[in-house]
Amino acid sequence: MKQFIVLILLAFLFGNANAQKKLILPVLGKINSDYWMVNFMDEDTTPVKIKDYQCGNYTYDGHEGTDFVIRSFAKMDSGVYVVAACDGVVFKVVDGLYDRNKISDKNKKLGNYIAIDHGDSLYAYYAHLRKFSAFVKSGDSVKKGQKIGLVGSSGNSSDPHLHFELYLGQKLVNPFVGNCNRTKAGFFEIQPNYDTMFRCIYQGLLNFEPTLDTIREEPKPKDIINYQDSFIGYWCQLISVKQGDSSTISWIDPNGYLWARYSYVHSTDLRFSYWWTFIQNPAYNQNAKSGAWRVEYAFNGVKIRELSFQLNAKQGVKRLEKYGVYMKSNTIVIPKHYAFNSINVFNISGILVKQIAIENNIYSYSLNMLHNGVYFLQMGAEGKFEYLKICIVNE
Ligand SMILES: [Zn+2]
Repeated sequence: MKQFIVLILLAFLFGNANAQKKLILPVLGKINSDYWMVNFMDEDTTPVKIKDYQCGNYTYDGHEGTDFVIRSFAKMDSGVYVVAACDGVVFKVVDGLYDRNKISDKNKKLGNYIAIDHGDSLYAYYAHLRKFSAFVKSGDSVKKGQKIGLVGSSGNSSDPHLHFELYLGQKLVNPFVGNCNRTKAGFFEIQPNYDTMFRCIYQGLLNFEPTLDTIREEPKPKDIINYQDSFIGYWCQLISVKQGDSSTISWIDPNGYLWARYSYVHSTDLRFSYWWTFIQNPAYNQNAKSGAWRVEYAFNGVKIRELSFQLNAKQGVKRLEKYGVYMKSNTIVIPKHYAFNSINVFNISGILVKQIAIENNIYSYSLNMLHNGVYFLQMGAEGKFEYLKICIVNE
């Protein structure tokens, strides 16, 4: 009789565990192609310390869910579907909040979200959704795989992603089972692999100096660079960079000549990051050749990406005089309404050689102290700099 009871108990325990393994991944598309799992739940409850379900560092302190990240705001605009991980009943919908956040702010919390009761005391929160993207309302029944909303960046979010948070009763649970999952239970029908492979998932060439925010938007890639462009930028979105990894960019002219090379050693482990570099447009330089240039990206010394572009290195053409600034002899002349506090002067190697503070009621600034040669005046403000190529000639 005693043995019989034990058998029944075992059957009950196994049955219950199997019933819990019923979720599918909550974003429509292909993992590691349409989206990437970036931050898992933090299994380390002590402050500052972090640990994901496999004892790694793919999480951040106090993270209570799993983040499924898409590659850009452009991708977000195209519409990436969030789907119900299981059958259930919607019990809360928040919609209509701003969805293009680029800075984390804990106070903003989940932003737009949908909460679903998936039965067996399992509750899921689908958070940071796109504004007005909820296809369901409170009280609606949903089927596993049903489209319920779109990935966004509302609430405490710096990049478009879905934050998926799971509760068993009142208890926060990790849907992934692994060596460092405190609850030792898994909730996915098929749990994806714990993937630590490095990837450059998306790249592009730009005809301006990139910034983090411009890359997040996924600017249209350029394959023609004209002499009017001040910079050529290269960017790549990286997954699973480790401290000590190196990224090297080489700029190569139509004759195969190495024009410039830049190497960078990554200083910290980053699961998801944007990396970029830029050079001054070679078209300014009299040695630059027009034609098919290329940029190569090597990771830890191995070439992994290459892009080609047409450089139109038209020589000797005077650039537009932006902001009404012009040169008279070796003197900068600015208009009365000039809007900025300073003008930076760079030499042909891109080194800042002089910073000119603009003072009230002074409209001309001599550059006679500079050696003869070609320089660039940098005007404007961060993200919107304009450049004027000048020539200093002291007789
Ligand atoms: Zn999250």
